[in-house]
Amino acid sequence: MAKDDKSSGEVASAEAGRDFIRDIVKADLDAGRVEQVVTRFPPEPNGYLHIGHAKSICLNFGIAEEFGGQCHLRFDDTNPTKEEQEYIDAIEADVRWLGFDWGQHLYHASDYFERLYNWAEDLIRSGKAYVDDQSQDEIRHNRGTLTEPGKNSPFRERSVEENLDLFRRMRAGEFPNGARVLRAKIDMASGNINLRDPVLYRILDAEHPRTGTTWKIYPSYDFAHGQSDAIEGITHSICTLEFEDHRPLYDWCLENLNVPSRPHQYEFARLNLTYTVLSKRVLTRLVQDGHVTGWDDPRMPTLAGLRRRGVPPAALRDFVKRIGVAKANSTVDAGMFEFSVREALNKTSLRRMAVLRPLKVIIENYPEGEGEELEAINHPDDAAAGLRKIKFTRELFIEQEDFMEHPEKKFFRMSPGREVRLRYAYFITCKEVKKNAAGEVIELRCSYDPATKGGNAPDGRKVKATIHWVSAAHSLPAEVRIYNPLFSKPDPSGGEGFANDLNPNSLEVLSGARLEPALAEAQVGVPVQFERQGYFCRDRESTPERPVFIRTIGLRDTFAKDVAKEKAKG
Ligand code: ATP
Ligand code: MG
Repeated sequence: MAKDDKSSGEVASAEAGRDFIRDIVKADLDAGRVEQVVTRFPPEPNGYLHIGHAKSICLNFGIAEEFGGQCHLRFDDTNPTKEEQEYIDAIEADVRWLGFDWGQHLYHASDYFERLYNWAEDLIRSGKAYVDDQSQDEIRHNRGTLTEPGKNSPFRERSVEENLDLFRRMRAGEFPNGARVLRAKIDMASGNINLRDPVLYRILDAEHPRTGTTWKIYPSYDFAHGQSDAIEGITHSICTLEFEDHRPLYDWCLENLNVPSRPHQYEFARLNLTYTVLSKRVLTRLVQDGHVTGWDDPRMPTLAGLRRRGVPPAALRDFVKRIGVAKANSTVDAGMFEFSVREALNKTSLRRMAVLRPLKVIIENYPEGEGEELEAINHPDDAAAGLRKIKFTRELFIEQEDFMEHPEKKFFRMSPGREVRLRYAYFITCKEVKKNAAGEVIELRCSYDPATKGGNAPDGRKVKATIHWVSAAHSLPAEVRIYNPLFSKPDPSGGEGFANDLNPNSLEVLSGARLEPALAEAQVGVPVQFERQGYFCRDRESTPERPVFIRTIGLRDTFAKDVAKEKAKG
């Protein structure tokens, strides 16, 4: 695990199933400070969920499960300009897919708009909020900097009556977007910029997916979040570190309002992954600018993309458990995630044979027009998965890369005159190499030893390689899509520069692949292992005539090696 320099050397205690947040929850329960733990997962419906959100989901729902509490799904839908029903639906589906259930507890910040509004009036009445007519730029300018205090707004001392009147007219839609805001009256000289009279309400004439055009003003995240937590009786409001500086404001709101409960906010380190961008803004751009085919493009780190790719939810949960929860930001090696994926798939995936880049093999001493059925095992560690029959014929396909006319030193697979084993079938020997006009190998003429049926020689002679194959006549033509990381840099830009860091080879399409017939029954999204190749699943873009399989993941982590090789080349 690579750590950035902010790391304090703190180690996440994932092995023990414990972390500092679980310790806090446990201590609060033990001391009787809370009776039942209530957490929430609060996505803003302005994009699809990604693997970083999975960390937060597993944490919030996991804690509720482990400590006998409950976890709410709450849409933090306070910005109608960016939020859409499509995202709301996708988020619900993704949380369920990951294996969590909010039961009755589905909420929306927008359910609380009326109460939040009334609380804002309460603040005005107690002299703790005012309507500011400064423009956005003026407000930003007068906020000061980290080293300089801000300047009081000229509208800061308005009377309660005037503030109430203006705020009500803001609500009534009397003013255009951006004309006025409601601000908390806290301290323009505070060392914490979040406390320099933060904006609580802004005018936004936009249609909201749930409340339609009822509202002309919308609360800020800071004014909505803590109060929503209080309304729902959240005990532990868990969020990522960038909200640490907002905590004093979270507390200020709760302390200055007559709220029904008193939640507390705790921050943990967000997930960062090598070769991956987890900024919703960039993910949205990837989709909108057509760098990918959609939110569920199998190269996307979204839960929808990972699901389509064939990643089982158990692999995500396992990964999140392994990385643990810490208080210092760090970047996790994408290889760790892949490890969890391989672990899960190795256990569950049926084995099949498929040839991705076919090279024709003719077994010259095998009778023409004949064939036989051989037995193949479906899973090496699971006898209950049983056997299947595969067709052996005179014409076969093997993988192009399993043949070398002039073999390198460590190449033990097929080459002229050398005997190899065809998995589950026979020993064969290459007798002759046929080439096209361009000098490319297009066909191998081979012989087989009928005494080696099943893949063993009665005289005990050995071969150095076993290769996979399919029958030419009985295999299915298919398209296979190989996905590589979407970004070619381990630390791609999460800002405007993201497009420069895209991997130009993130998708490789193999249009002439051949599959063993059993793969006709493969289900969309359920990976099988293509022996010696990796895990693949049927994609929803398949047609009955032409299956499309996508690679979930290779058998080994070859990408890191490829990158190292590229680097060495310069
Ligand atoms: P934005 O970039 O729009 O702020 P976001 O990814 O923070 O997006 P939210 O919808 O606000 O999106 O996130 C919902 C919850 O998921 C929040 O509590 C947030 O802290 C958490 N979360 C978001 N990204 C990560 C991440 N990379 N790792 C862990 N938790 C995350
Ligand atoms: Mg956020």
